[in-house]
Amino acid sequence: MRNVGIYYAFWTHEWDVDFTPYIKKVGKLGFDQLELNGGTVNSMSSKEQKELKKMADDEGIVLSYGIGLQKAYDVASLDEKVRQNGIDFMKKMIDSVANMGGGMIGGTVHGYWPSTLPKELESKEPCWKQSIKSMKELAPYAGERGVKLNVEVINRFEQFLINDSHEALAYVQEVNHPACGVLLDTFHMNIEEDSFGDAIRRIGPYLSSFHLGETNRKTPGTGRMPWAEIKQALDDINYDGPLVMEPFVMQGGQVGRDIGVWRKIVKNPDLDKLAADAAKFVKENLV
Ligand code: MN
Repeated sequence: MRNVGIYYAFWTHEWDVDFTPYIKKVGKLGFDQLELNGGTVNSMSSKEQKELKKMADDEGIVLSYGIGLQKAYDVASLDEKVRQNGIDFMKKMIDSVANMGGGMIGGTVHGYWPSTLPKELESKEPCWKQSIKSMKELAPYAGERGVKLNVEVINRFEQFLINDSHEALAYVQEVNHPACGVLLDTFHMNIEEDSFGDAIRRIGPYLSSFHLGETNRKTPGTGRMPWAEIKQALDDINYDGPLVMEPFVMQGGQVGRDIGVWRKIVKNPDLDKLAADAAKFVKENLV
């Protein structure tokens, strides 16, 4: 049974928000899981973190955490001081998630976001090496605390280190630690992969989390994503991790800006209804 989740920022204009309303409502909309901004959780006190976790437990909701590391915390930086700051930040975040009973942190945990190849470089090899060095330190730290780090395969316009499933496979095999897995996202796969099914089967047992979205980041089931092919491949690898939709349809705020929502993507959006319809679609077609 695959948990069906949603990323909280579907409802918000800013990344840093109070998560309470979303923890309270996603269960009623048909979800088992809510993905939160790890950075926000990391800035909360230990007591606040525990209260948030208790609220989720009371609602029967599993929590997971997403992060796009900031440049100052780039674990792939060639500047050792910056890389060390990144490791310290990630360790604090792992501690935060451990304080909330453990779980998954996914996203650009392997470098900063959004980013492009540093101007002085012709190849990403030096950054790759730095990232691997960081992850070889972070994965055991996470594993010992009941936390898993999932590197998200992100398209070329947002990140440069891991753009497709071939690179993701090479990365996790080089790290070679059970607490480092892969997060595939249909929105990014649509840009970079030759085949959805082959990419999922290539990652196989390393696939730890899966993000859902249409090609324009609308809710699953409203566009032209090949969901039947995706479901078949998930079945082929006996995938039992979460399916977390990550739709963005609202203009405005830092979320609209960072995601690039510059037009009215849906008319008169009733976000709760869109989310509930999508949860139903995913449960019927992908679980
Ligand atoms: Mn994603």
